[in-house]
Amino acid sequence: MTRKKRFGVSLDKETFELLDGVAKGLGVDRSRLIALATREYLAGQLHFTRPHECEGVLILSYSSSDKSEVDELLESSGPLIVSRSHLHTKAGCCVEMLYVRGPSDSIWNLHASANKVCKECRYVPVCL
Ligand SMILES: [Zn+2]
Ligand SMILES: [Zn+2]
Repeated sequence: MTRKKRFGVSLDKETFELLDGVAKGLGVDRSRLIALATREYLAGQLHFTRPHECEGVLILSYSSSDKSEVDELLESSGPLIVSRSHLHTKAGCCVEMLYVRGPSDSIWNLHASANKVCKECRYVPVCL
């Protein structure tokens, strides 16, 4: 069995309650859930530590009042965006499904900029 390291983690009350609720819902203890979540998050970050030609699917959702800001961002990203689908949720939120391809640092920057405007912003690389 892998040796474990212990360290203190401080979470705000809301994050702790979220963690506790999800751990109970999944039937795992909090330490196990933190280990799983940390690995998944770090694997996502690790993807961008090595510069490479990347491609994948970027999913954005945002309030329709932010559409012009998102349009501007996407238009300035020009050749990175291979395909773009725009849909609406039942509640009227805008959803963009983008297929992007290009240098990993450019995709990282697009993701970071979109994160500032969008309620939800997920990148799923398929370049692996
Ligand atoms: Zn990649
Ligand atoms: Zn829309």
